[in-house]
Amino acid sequence: MSDAERKDTPEQAEFRAHCKDWLENNHPGRPDVRLPQGALELSDPDALAYLQSWQKSAYDAGMIGCDYPKEFGGGGRENCQAIANQEMQRAKTPYLPNVIGMGMAAPTIFFHAQDDVKAEVLPKLLSGEHIWCQGFSEPGAGSDLANQQTFAERDGDNWVINGHKVWTSLAHFAEWMILLCRTNKDDKYNGLSYFVVPIRENLDKGITVRPLIKMTGETGFNEVLFDSVVVDDRYRLDEVGAGWKVAMTTLAHERGAGPLVTPASGGMPLEEDESAQTSSVYALIELARQQERHGKSAADDPLIRDELMQIMIRQQAFNQNLRRAGIPALNDHPMRIPLQFKLVATEMVQDLQNIAYEIEGAASTLYVNDENSPASGRWKLAYMNSFGMTIAAGANEVQRNILGERVLGMPKSK
Ligand SMILES: Cc1cc2nc3c(=O)[nH]c(=O)nc-3n(C[C@H](O)[C@H](O)[C@H](O)COP(=O)(O)OP(=O)(O)OC[C@H]3O[C@@H](n4cnc5c(N)ncnc54)[C@H](O)[C@@H]3O)c2cc1C
Repeated sequence: MSDAERKDTPEQAEFRAHCKDWLENNHPGRPDVRLPQGALELSDPDALAYLQSWQKSAYDAGMIGCDYPKEFGGGGRENCQAIANQEMQRAKTPYLPNVIGMGMAAPTIFFHAQDDVKAEVLPKLLSGEHIWCQGFSEPGAGSDLANQQTFAERDGDNWVINGHKVWTSLAHFAEWMILLCRTNKDDKYNGLSYFVVPIRENLDKGITVRPLIKMTGETGFNEVLFDSVVVDDRYRLDEVGAGWKVAMTTLAHERGAGPLVTPASGGMPLEEDESAQTSSVYALIELARQQERHGKSAADDPLIRDELMQIMIRQQAFNQNLRRAGIPALNDHPMRIPLQFKLVATEMVQDLQNIAYEIEGAASTLYVNDENSPASGRWKLAYMNSFGMTIAAGANEVQRNILGERVLGMPKSK
């Protein structure tokens, strides 16, 4: 029995037994299509269909949205999502596709929307039938998020929205968007309001979604243009002018510091060959064993061995630091561990993937789908994607500022 299982209440133990039992009989198996490394790189409709079908069946079995009330499509349980996540991870299920919906939109809607809107949108969000995207970033509003220029103008019971969003992950598949925009040009922070917008049904009514191609060749994010898009006032979350406060609920959950646990499945290897998993130092060691350098295994090269040990030490330190999250006396500030986690994890994984380049040597120039590419080119793809991870959810430089100023109490940067 694991540590987590020992702490289960009787209700949680019963729920865990249900999850184990269901998962044993309902693993979806491997897809016929190639899955991207994460949901934010989904661009193939067949890959999306496979993952949506998996999310729907896990939802129907009560493992997604367990802690949301039943009237809003949830399971009506308490503190059970983490248990479902642990069991899905253990069963090595595929990852879930509606990551922005579950991780950011759902808690924001739950805490700030009218009840009829919660009942309308949350069930299909949690089941994964409706994919959601996040319309925060603009060409001039990324790190300076409050500099929103997309403008919503009141027109009776509606709002008319004009503007330009960018880096909008999954917008090419999304039915809905969480949207931060300006409703008052004279007040930077109190002039913002927050809406949920049915973007798919507005595609021929003023919304244009333009996919952007990443350096991996995949489409992950998009530009989204609003040209006089009409949105019902009931889709506004909280008061007019309270958008910044609502956005803080979204960002707290995006950074893993919100009160609602995000449904998270995953753990299914993307390849039959588990050594193609690209964030594990053990997979990297396996790669080194398989690759030749100067006529012998790369794992025998003292320089490579040294780098492998260095990264292993960092990964061990990272894991030990994570254990502090469970010790209340060490968590005086709710952002301390989540901000550290994002910073350290994204940079460590990037360095780990960079070592794979060295191990692969000349073969690292071969790309995905090249039959001679080591581990199907996954390490290279992961290394390229790793740069986005140090920027998404707030650039790491900005995270360092927040850690310094808000958590450590250092003077504000100019
Ligand atoms: C993979 C990926 C997915 C994304 N998905 C979404 C999405 O779905 N929805 C969405 O709204 N946005 C999304 N984004 C956008 C993301 O939130 C922004 O890219 C990010 O907030 C940085 O903003 P920016 O790109 O405008 O860069 P800028 O803010 O222009 O920053 C440029 C550089 O300046 C540095 N910098 C800026 N200000 C400071 C400062 N005060 N101190 C020190 N350094 C500073 C930054 O760290 C960065 O290196 C995504 C980004 C990526 C990479």
